[in-house]
Amino acid sequence: MIAACAFSSRTNTVFGSKNRRTPRLAAAVLAAALPLGAAAQGQGLQVFACEPEWAALVKALAPQAQVTAATHARQDAHHIEARPALIAALRRAHLAVCTGASLEVGWLPMLQARAGNAAVRDGQPGMFYAAQQVELIDRRASVGFNDGDVHPEGNPHFHLDPARLAQVARALSQRLAQIDPPQAAAYAARHTAWQADWARGTAQWQQRAAPLKGQRVVGQHNTFAYLWHWLGVQQIADLEPKPGTPPTPSHLQSVLAQVRQAPPIAITHALYQDAQPAQWLARQLGEDKVAVLALPSTVTDDGPSADLASWMDALVTQLLKTLPAR
Ligand SMILES: [Zn+2]
Repeated sequence: MIAACAFSSRTNTVFGSKNRRTPRLAAAVLAAALPLGAAAQGQGLQVFACEPEWAALVKALAPQAQVTAATHARQDAHHIEARPALIAALRRAHLAVCTGASLEVGWLPMLQARAGNAAVRDGQPGMFYAAQQVELIDRRASVGFNDGDVHPEGNPHFHLDPARLAQVARALSQRLAQIDPPQAAAYAARHTAWQADWARGTAQWQQRAAPLKGQRVVGQHNTFAYLWHWLGVQQIADLEPKPGTPPTPSHLQSVLAQVRQAPPIAITHALYQDAQPAQWLARQLGEDKVAVLALPSTVTDDGPSADLASWMDALVTQLLKTLPAR
């Protein structure tokens, strides 16, 4: 069982700790302070979302907001480049919505420093970390040198659990009201409506997915751990030898030996991950027996997973297709 998320602790020493303050940053902070009521003054609420799921949630709760997503479903959100366009987007943001729990530790602190926007510094109302709103699974008391890229805060891919996503939505709607008070009643009303839809959807997905309970899958990374947990699916092996380390031939051989006697219903990987290790394993097990599923680990720009509910629905549908016809 892989117990934590990939992230590079080594990048911390490259970019410095996220709380480091330089004189240059302090000056920039004073110069760039944004009025909290700017959104209400007709300029439009500018939101920077680190991942597509938070961009989608902001669009649901604040349809008038102008939202920039820093990453997309075919990118690995653990590791992206701090491009100038992203720095500019964070500089003009009234609110930044990110996962936290060190998912973005390799790039967000540097973006915050370069953007020099006081509103989205850690600890400010404009910097919203979703991980602070939920309990994480797979927390680790300590991280050893040979454990791979892991973090003690726990698995940060909690947006794959509808209940945790709902907790984040509640907190986010309150945060929107806090930074944009004139719209507070509208945010509350939209959240109430969204929450009702989401609860209805969650019950339906859970009902449809009931046949998946107790089924076994092989995964790659712990990306879908919360989804498996929710649906009662068991991830019996991980294509990664260590979190954040790409599959190796020797590790794949050991996974093959482990699952050959009782193959899983599917070998899954996220859209942004290389399909070849999963395809190799499926070939060894007999392709007609074991499906390879490229699952969207977050909402996509278009297609059948373009908003949160459609994405959840598509995940359940894709998984159900792997079951033998009854
Ligand atoms: Zn991860």
